[in-house]
Amino acid sequence: MTDIHIRRAGKAGRITLNRPDALNAMTWQMCLEIRDALEAWRDDPQISVVVIDAAGERAFCAGGDIAELYRTGRDGDFDYGRRFWADEYRLNAAIFAWPKPIISFLQGFVMGGGVGIGCHGTHRIVGESSRVAMPECGIGLIPDVGATLMLALADGRMGEYLGVTGTRMTAADAIYAGFADLYIAEAEWPGLIHRLQETGDPGVVEQAATEPPASGLAALADDVNRHFGGEALSDIFNSLRGEDSDFARSALKAMERNSPLSMAVTIELLHRLRGPSISIGKALDLEYRFTARAMEHGELLEGIRAAIIDKDRNPQWQYKDQSVPISSVSKMLRPLGPDALKLEETPVTQKAVGFIGLGNMGAPMAANLAAAGYRVTGFDTAGTTAAGVTNAATAQEAVQDADIVITMLPDGKILRAVAEQILPSLRPGTLFVDCSTVDVDSARAVAEQTAGAAVLFVDAPVSGGIGGATAGTLTFMSGGSAEAFAQAQALFDIMGQKAVHCGEAGAGQAAKICNNMILGATMIATCEAFALADKLGLDRQKMFDVASTSSGYSWSMNAYCPAPGVGPQSPADNDYKPGFAAELMLKDLGLSQQAAEAVDADTPMGAAALELYRRFVELEDGRGKDFSAMLPRFSARGRDS
Ligand code: NAD
Repeated sequence: MTDIHIRRAGKAGRITLNRPDALNAMTWQMCLEIRDALEAWRDDPQISVVVIDAAGERAFCAGGDIAELYRTGRDGDFDYGRRFWADEYRLNAAIFAWPKPIISFLQGFVMGGGVGIGCHGTHRIVGESSRVAMPECGIGLIPDVGATLMLALADGRMGEYLGVTGTRMTAADAIYAGFADLYIAEAEWPGLIHRLQETGDPGVVEQAATEPPASGLAALADDVNRHFGGEALSDIFNSLRGEDSDFARSALKAMERNSPLSMAVTIELLHRLRGPSISIGKALDLEYRFTARAMEHGELLEGIRAAIIDKDRNPQWQYKDQSVPISSVSKMLRPLGPDALKLEETPVTQKAVGFIGLGNMGAPMAANLAAAGYRVTGFDTAGTTAAGVTNAATAQEAVQDADIVITMLPDGKILRAVAEQILPSLRPGTLFVDCSTVDVDSARAVAEQTAGAAVLFVDAPVSGGIGGATAGTLTFMSGGSAEAFAQAQALFDIMGQKAVHCGEAGAGQAAKICNNMILGATMIATCEAFALADKLGLDRQKMFDVASTSSGYSWSMNAYCPAPGVGPQSPADNDYKPGFAAELMLKDLGLSQQAAEAVDADTPMGAAALELYRRFVELEDGRGKDFSAMLPRFSARGRDS
């Protein structure tokens, strides 16, 4: 008997997983055989459907062959795992996109690799014994095989809940969460498979489906959404620990066993995946960024050791549940450059990019584009350069022959001057993306000029700082035509995690300065509150524990806490080295007040924040420090100083 039984039966391509003693765990060889069969049947007119089932009652497929991964990884061979996952993920994507119906019969355990084979087809059938789960965080991996697509699309925050707790779903739960489609009593399955082979018509199973029993998972939706909506893993832990309920206790029990790093990355990945550019390709690409690093830099080897090698069930994870640094999460999700997952063997893009302004932000952004296969030529008056980027002697030279121009410059005046210089060299149809933070008027003026030259313009300022530029996790706020935004999306996907089309030209800059006005004001408020708490004798950790889970919650408090040693890692823990420099915050607050004046908007908090940062940068010792260094400033002062 082989591990997999692949054959033609009537009008059906038939695949039966056949390792019942190993709960049909997927091996690399099984992946390759399924891939070859699908390839052979794709254009075969005799094959109308593919039916996938599995031998034995206990499992359709309980995962992948992790013992072999452990053996190779422990010997320092990380490449074996990477190649295995790449082949497995390509198969998952192929099942998702296969042009004819794929019908899977999912009894018993359907976990990990089993979800990848069984839950991407067109008709996913579950029955009384089905138990579907993605429990990977328990072994230091993350939900993968494209399952993050279903998790990100599930109702509310169900995806976060299922991903970090590894909860086993019943048939009804799996249908509710988007992992399955049809409920059919298992006694009927053999007869249905027989008829599918005879007819090749998926209507056979559609007609046999009945109403599933009620979903216990759906009944938990309010609890799930209340606790799992936070920005990061620590928010979820805080929320659950703040409630004395059966739900909170059982979620915590499941999570306290799992790798904190894996759970933190799972949350971040799902947040990045949700949004207009969600796709199976993006899900697998993000998953692969983690799995490709999981043995060398993550905790997979320790996780497998504790689960199936030594079986002590006592993995030694790197971090305690609440204290996974944001930088460690970003590291695991950094783009892989030339080693990124390639779903099809298509050559990487050869589009030419002219990149002007290779400073703190521009250099890593340009390097990420070069790593993704763009031909990038850069120019910076300071002579700076970036990995993989060819340097030009002038701005005009950098944009000669460019399909795309990107600018990342200090201010609107410089942007206008550079646009003046390069526009005569641009071909009609060139895409011009300005990522600098500038005043709305400058963005609109450049947009007008480019329209005259038939160039597509997008203003796309960013948030996420140097860390986000390096990790490829920036957020882009864009203004411009829908066509220009659509064309820029591929670039945003490489340099960032999220892009929002805010409206016509200038709308991106408008969003950026409004956002940063909130940020400046909330950072000051957070710093003031810590300084007051100190003087009232309140412990900083207690202050954080309360404010980060109460109405004092904000990005400044929760993700970028200005108090050293408290909350996630932030510039405060690095002697307030920027991060985001106080003078850049001063510039952005100046832009918001300039805009407010132009449109007669009343912004007293923004004006007060501007004045405080002006004093901090120009008269005190704020220049060159992170903008959160307002905390030691407030701490050192009394009411009248
Ligand atoms: P930076 O000063 O490090 O980089 C700007 C670069 O532009 C410099 O290297 C400079 O030499 C170059 N330059 C100036 N004039 C030029 C010209 N005429 N032609 C070519 N190059 C020229 O600044 P940065 O931190 O990279 O920020 C760039 C932009 O991004 C700014 O608008 C800033 O507000 C915005 N931004 C920065 C951050 C951050 O955390 N640093 C975050 C979000 C947005």
